[in-house]
This record gives sequence, structure tokens and C-alpha cells, in this order.
Amino acid sequence: MSQLITCRTCKQQVSYNAKFCPNCGEREPSAFVYKWSTIIFAILFLILVIYGIYTFAF
Ligand SMILES: [Zn+2]
Repeated sequence: MSQLITCRTCKQQVSYNAKFCPNCGEREPSAFVYKWSTIIFAILFLILVIYGIYTFAF
């Protein structure tokens, strides 16, 4: 079963493992999704670290 993601360029449904978007030819259409999940994870991690520091400091 292949997971579908939305192409960052043409917003069409593309296979998660696709190297090229079959609709617009965009390279690695899942790159945007990858980036966002990484950013969200980084922010959550940062919040946890800051919360941890505050809890420890006060
Ligand atoms: Zn596309």
C-alpha cells in the first residue's frame, strides 16, 4: 500500500515514494512534506527543552 501525498507544486495526489511528480514533473514532490514534519518536530522539541529548562530553573 502506497501512501499518497500532495505535490508541493501542482497540489495533485502523488505516491509518497515517487521520485518525480507524474503531473508536473517536480523532483521529490514529498520534499515539502518532509520539511514541514521536520520543522514541526524541531519546534515541539524546542518547546519541550524550554519547558524543561523553566521547570528546572524555577
Ligand atoms: Zn506535481
